[in-house]
Amino acid sequence: MIDGGLWHTDDPEVPSQRVMLQVREELYRRRSQFQEIAILDTVLFGRALILNNILQTAERDEFCYHEMLVHPAMLAHPAPRRVLIIGGGDGGALRRVLEHPVERVTMVEIDREVVEACREHLPAIHGNAFDDPRLDLRFEDGFAYVEARPEKFDVIIVDGPDPIGPTPGTVLFARDFYRGLADMLEDGGLVVQQTESPMLLPAQTAATHLHLRDVLPIVRTYLTHVQSYDGWWSFTVASRTTDPAAVELDVLAQRMRERGIDQCRYYSPEVHRGAFELPVFLRRYLEESIALGRPADTHPLMPEVNARLAQTS
Ligand code: SAM
Repeated sequence: MIDGGLWHTDDPEVPSQRVMLQVREELYRRRSQFQEIAILDTVLFGRALILNNILQTAERDEFCYHEMLVHPAMLAHPAPRRVLIIGGGDGGALRRVLEHPVERVTMVEIDREVVEACREHLPAIHGNAFDDPRLDLRFEDGFAYVEARPEKFDVIIVDGPDPIGPTPGTVLFARDFYRGLADMLEDGGLVVQQTESPMLLPAQTAATHLHLRDVLPIVRTYLTHVQSYDGWWSFTVASRTTDPAAVELDVLAQRMRERGIDQCRYYSPEVHRGAFELPVFLRRYLEESIALGRPADTHPLMPEVNARLAQTS
C-alpha cells in the first residue's frame, strides 16, 4: 500500500506491528490469476518483490536469505545432481543452486507472471539464472506436483510465501504435503523449507518442524537474519540419513572449493554450524512443541504473535 506519496506499508505478520518502507518508484503492479504482484524501488533495500502487499525479497539483503536457504542442504549432500525448487519465482534460490555442479534443476512455480516480472525488473537477484540450460521450469501448483510424485531428487527446496491471507502458498505448509516430499527424496537426500520468523510466526516454525518429524527422522531448524523481513528468519531441513548440523567444517570448506562456491556474502562453514545452534528460548519452544505434538504457547511474544497464521494443519 503506497500512502503519503511514496511509502509502502507491508501487510503485517502481527496485527500490533507496522513496517513502512520509503519508495523511490513503483516499477510494476498487476493482479495475476493467483495474487497481486508489485515491484518497488525502495530507498533502503533497493528493488523489492511484493506479493499481496507482503515483501518477498529485496536486492540489498536477499543474499542473507537465499544463501542460507540453499547452501546448507546442498553442501551437506556429497554430490547433489538433481534438485527440485517449489516456488522461488524471484530466481534467487535458483541462482544459488546453479552455483553447484548440478545436472538438472526442476522449478515448480505457480505464477508465470511473477517470473516474468522478476526476470525483467530483478536481474540483481536472479542473475539471469532463468536462462541456464539445466533449468526445467514448470508453471504449476507445487502441492499438486508433489502429490503426483513424478520423480526423486537429491535436494528439495520449498521457497513459498508466508501462509498469511489469500495466498496460493498456504498449501505448501499443509500436513499432507510432507509425506509427498519425503517420498520424493533419493537416498541421502535432503528437503529444506523457509519456516517463517521464529519471533513473529513461531507456531508456523514449530508446525513445520513437527510435520517433517512425522515423515523423516532427522529434522533441524536453523536461523539467518534478513533485515527486510524484519529480523530473524528460520529454515527447517530434514533427511532420512544426512544430518546437516553434523557435517565437519573442513568437509564443508572442501566441498565449497571443489564446487567453486566462492561468492558467498553470508554463508560460510562456520556460519553453517552456528546457524543450527538455536538460542535457548527457541530450542526450548521447539522441544515443548515436540513434547506436546503441537506448537506450544510458551513463546516470549505470545499471545500477540501467530494471530494472522492461516490454519495449515
Ligand atoms: N522468500 C519469500 C518468503 O520467504 O516469503 C518467498 C519468495 S518466492 C517469491 C514465493 C513464490 O512462491 C512466489 O513466486 C509464488 O508465486 C510461489 N507460490 C505460491 N504458492 C505456490 C504453490 N502452491 N506452488 C508453487 N509456487 C507457489
